[in-house]
Amino acid sequence: LFQDLLDVSKADDGRLSNYPEVVDVVEFVGSVVEDFKLKAEEKGLVLKYIPDPSGASMGQKTVAPMYFANVDNDHLREIVSNLIENAIKYTHEGEVTVDVVGDGEHVSVSVKDSGIGIPAEDIFHLFQKFYRIDNTDTREIGGTGLGLYLCRRLAEVMGGRIDVTSEFKKGSVFTLTIDKIERGEAAKLKDQQA
Ligand code: ATP
Ligand code: MG
Repeated sequence: LFQDLLDVSKADDGRLSNYPEVVDVVEFVGSVVEDFKLKAEEKGLVLKYIPDPSGASMGQKTVAPMYFANVDNDHLREIVSNLIENAIKYTHEGEVTVDVVGDGEHVSVSVKDSGIGIPAEDIFHLFQKFYRIDNTDTREIGGTGLGLYLCRRLAEVMGGRIDVTSEFKKGSVFTLTIDKIERGEAAKLKDQQA
């Protein structure tokens, strides 16, 4: 909470740092997902990472794709962690599925859950500071309402954005989208950064 409050005060007066570094998004997000395996298991949830080639028999992709981005790696970790943490926290049963997809210009990290979902009228407010949905499903789940506010601010300094779609009582999908760079560009920047 203390760290969150520090980050929030930095975000509020434009003091968030931003140190872009080349990152292999699929590999990086995979390591973040690993950090939550135990937490999900303890709650009886299945945490799936779609790009994981070792999970081919579970219907995942057989070859992990490679997408590079030039973004602050700490921010990327913070955002993806927050989204997975929420997905686990607001899901009583079923699964949390993380995927990474790319198009010509962007790479998107999605975190999908089979949880309590979000009423349509709350969607618009989710990214406000201290906003927490108050209904019978959320009342006994603790939190401060800072996670998504920080995620949004961190995504902004990275030049990215977060979108959400949800169905109340069914589940939600939060998607972080950032700029993609080509492999050659990634190699060049990596050299410079080293
Ligand atoms: P914390 O600051 O500890 O993260 P929090 O989880 O309550 O507290 P946010 O992460 O900002 O705060 O989320 C804001 C609100 O959005 C939550 O209180 C919850 O009501 C709703 N929410 C966020 N993620 C989900 C999700 N995956 N499914 C359902 N509701 C969610
Ligand atoms: Mg949260």
